[in-house]
Amino acid sequence: MIDRPLVIATRNKGKIEELKSLFSGFPISLKSLNDFGPIPEPVEDGKTFEDNAYRKAHFTARVLGFPALADDSGLTVAALGGAPGVFSARYAGEGAGDEANIRKLLKAMEGVSDRKAAFECVISIAVPRGPALTYEGKCEGEIATDPGGKNGFGYEPGFFYPPLGKTFAELSREEKNLVSHRGKAVAKLLAEFDKVLAWLEQRIAEEPF
Ligand code: IMP
Repeated sequence: MIDRPLVIATRNKGKIEELKSLFSGFPISLKSLNDFGPIPEPVEDGKTFEDNAYRKAHFTARVLGFPALADDSGLTVAALGGAPGVFSARYAGEGAGDEANIRKLLKAMEGVSDRKAAFECVISIAVPRGPALTYEGKCEGEIATDPGGKNGFGYEPGFFYPPLGKTFAELSREEKNLVSHRGKAVAKLLAEFDKVLAWLEQRIAEEPF
């Protein structure tokens, strides 16, 4: 156990709940940006998930003085040349919500026969001075022709996962965690959690707090 919290660098409730459930039982105290007052927003103008994950993690660690974990994730659709990709959260415009984003996606896919898509996730854990660890996960599926389901967040009602014959929004949290992009990235991180803790302890000892 390290002597300070790891801050999840997001205010997205879906991501926070999912990450907290994935880390449950592991010896680390997790907080999120919702546990702090207003802080400036990091600029997310990277070209890759990895770029943006590191920007968010490092920015948050620098501003708060605690190690931070950021998830940058999104949906890539083959027939749309990889869109919405890093623009997933703002596909239908800055400040657009999940509903507008998913509506735009389903419209763009009307009549398209190649429905291959993937959720991708990169997790970065950074300390204020800059060093970081990176983990990636990917989950392949299809854009649903018959969207539905009430669980989860974001594009989940529109993402059909053939091995289970359901959309992500029809899966329980436990079912989703076992197969999702975020679940896979976190599983890689947790598989070497003792090393992550040792790395964090070492980096924290080097920080000029
Ligand atoms: P970010 O906060 O920039 O990483 O935004 C990622 C966006 O991708 C979210 O706002 C969602 O629209 C979408 N997304 C990422 N992961 C998931 C997921 O697990 N389920 C549904 N949508 C997701």
